Amino acid sequence: NKSLKEIDKEIFNAIEDELNRQEGGLELIASENFVSKGVMEAVGSIMTNKYAEGYPGKRYYGGCEKVDIAENLAIERAKELFNVKYANVQPHSGSQANMAAYRALINIGDCILGMRLDHGGHLTHGKNVNFSGQDYKVISYSVTPDEEIINYDEVRKLALEHKPKVIIAGASAYPRIIDFKKFREIADEINAYLIVDMAHIAGLVATGLHPSPIEYADVVTSTTHKTLRGPRGGLILTNNEEIAKKIDKTIFPGTQGGPLMHIIAGKAVAFKEALAPEFKEYQKQVIKNAKTLGEELTHLGLKIVSGGTDNHLLLVDLTNINITGKEAEEVLEKINITVNKNGIPYDKKSPFVTSGIRLGTPALTTRGMKEKEMKIIGRIIFQGLQYKEDEKKLISLKEEVIKLSKEFPLYK
Ligand code: PLP
Repeated sequence: NKSLKEIDKEIFNAIEDELNRQEGGLELIASENFVSKGVMEAVGSIMTNKYAEGYPGKRYYGGCEKVDIAENLAIERAKELFNVKYANVQPHSGSQANMAAYRALINIGDCILGMRLDHGGHLTHGKNVNFSGQDYKVISYSVTPDEEIINYDEVRKLALEHKPKVIIAGASAYPRIIDFKKFREIADEINAYLIVDMAHIAGLVATGLHPSPIEYADVVTSTTHKTLRGPRGGLILTNNEEIAKKIDKTIFPGTQGGPLMHIIAGKAVAFKEALAPEFKEYQKQVIKNAKTLGEELTHLGLKIVSGGTDNHLLLVDLTNINITGKEAEEVLEKINITVNKNGIPYDKKSPFVTSGIRLGTPALTTRGMKEKEMKIIGRIIFQGLQYKEDEKKLISLKEEVIKLSKEFPLYK
């Protein structure tokens, strides 16, 4: 049995190079994280070999006893972590989890009300290029122009006017606490279902650092790979037995064949880690780091959307320093800092250019970085943007980034 290096040098090298990229730079993409070696071991395990269509105890293939152990552990731990009655741990992704949630609750052509993508929502909340915008009639809500927080009055007004069958709350680029109770009240007024997509904040919810949507939503969806720090994948939760049965059917056989048992094993490991007390300390630090980074950037003269953050991410509004989101992403990449360009509310630039960048602290916090490092990183980011055309200065900033990265080794 040959090693990867012997079988496929090109892929082996790509993985080595990617490891060096991850270790040699600062990862500030808000939706990314670094999984533990334990999660990695489960994900890279022989569980990938097993077909297990169906659910534990009710499979369409023989030999599923051992993978059943993994899936049952993942389910039980997810239930404990989020204090919920039913969990489906099979969705291959967050997008598939959202597809299953809609399909379980409403029919094609029905109306959904979700957050505008350019105000922080996700593609699967009704964007026209996504199945959600193609299969459903979509109405979208915004954030307010002044405070840049969700416009709950508008949510209610649109709900009363259009009577959507589903309201979806949750976001990919929203730095503030989401008021799930308010969403529930609005949904109740029009007898709509409430789906909460907590993908970005699942780790904060798991540790009580963001209010939980469980008691308010009919269905909660999530990814497992962001603040929750598990393998890439999806998760669906509900307290309603009838809905739980529909969700299970919508996942299998509705939208997939065999589940990814190695990923499910990895999810089980990640949930175990998330149940440990250290995980809460980690999430507290994620928030402290995001606040500190935001304060430092503000201090240096940058504008932060909504004036700061309550969670793991920040949206930097670059309009006052004459650089686009695209340029900022590119110049920071040159100094080994990975971020993504991101539209800001009421952005005048296209999604390919944008006037902002999104910064998140989950990955750097996993590496052990704290407030002290956030201040340094804030200054480096600011200088990177300021000296975007000064190659010499950029080289010295890159050296500083590499030195800082080396102080916080990742897997070695
Ligand atoms: N929901 C939200 C709020 C997200 O931010 C994302 C991912 O960026 C998803 C769903 C989709 O997850 P996936 O990329 O696994 O399809």
